[in-house]
Amino acid sequence: MVQKVEKSPKEWKEQLTPEQYHVAREKGTERAFTGEYHDNKQPGVYKCVCCGTELFRSDEKFDSGTGWPSFWAPAKAENVDTKSDRSLFMVRTEVLCAACDAHLGHVFNDGPALTGKRYCINSASLDFEKKA
Ligand SMILES: [Zn+2]
Repeated sequence: MVQKVEKSPKEWKEQLTPEQYHVAREKGTERAFTGEYHDNKQPGVYKCVCCGTELFRSDEKFDSGTGWPSFWAPAKAENVDTKSDRSLFMVRTEVLCAACDAHLGHVFNDGPALTGKRYCINSASLDFEKKA
């Protein structure tokens, strides 16, 4: 079980940059190719910018050409939640941090072999920790 992390909007605002807060707590989307990690090829882990839960790894990252960090699987299935998202006149599957409900991005079914999944994630929701 993932331990839940709960904080008030005020506490999140104090901890995060305005961009991180908008994406992670208000379900925003950073503009393509503007994020810190879409082109990051270093080995390491991507943690939740809000609570530090390990969400994705460089091992599962691939270059989707979309301008957002893309992964074909999460680091651990139990660390991410998914939810049906019917905003913007589309049905998409939202990806959230299982511990603190941070909005991470969306998952699509056009990913590479092995899983066929493409987790399209905002850099602003992630904190990269380079492998030593
Ligand atoms: Zn989190």
